[in-house]
Amino acid sequence: MSVKSIPAARRQYIREYMWANGKKIYRRNCERLHQLLGNKCAVCGETEKLTVNNKDLAVSKDELVDLSHLWSLSIEKLAAYLPKIHLLCPQHRQDARRKIRPFTHGLWWAAYKKKCQCEECEEFRANYALERRENRRYKKLGLKPKTGLPIN
Ligand SMILES: [Zn+2]
Ligand SMILES: [Zn+2]
Repeated sequence: MSVKSIPAARRQYIREYMWANGKKIYRRNCERLHQLLGNKCAVCGETEKLTVNNKDLAVSKDELVDLSHLWSLSIEKLAAYLPKIHLLCPQHRQDARRKIRPFTHGLWWAAYKKKCQCEECEEFRANYALERRENRRYKKLGLKPKTGLPIN
């Protein structure tokens, strides 16, 4: 299910409703979703820093549940998706992603080409952006740029 499959009128309604009610609903519905999913990591039972994940990541993009707007669905609509999703702690989220995408994390390819969301790749992106900014500054000052971060 993608955002495009929500009719424009419904999208407009959601937008206006959200505008009026702020983040309260978002937070409340996220909590409700976590509760429905048992409030713990499906692998180890951890209860902190949980995120909602697709159970099966090895399916085509169309079959993946679009997690970004699950919070906006009614309980009735959510029911259809619950069997396909679960909660994971950061460690098991990372493990699950590594299993289906066996590239080296913390390098340019994974961080930018594969847009991996694991901690290592997030950190790489942050450092890389910082370095690029610095290098631009060096260049402006007529200095030699520092050597780049490893690519691939
Ligand atoms: Zn876990
Ligand atoms: Zn990664």
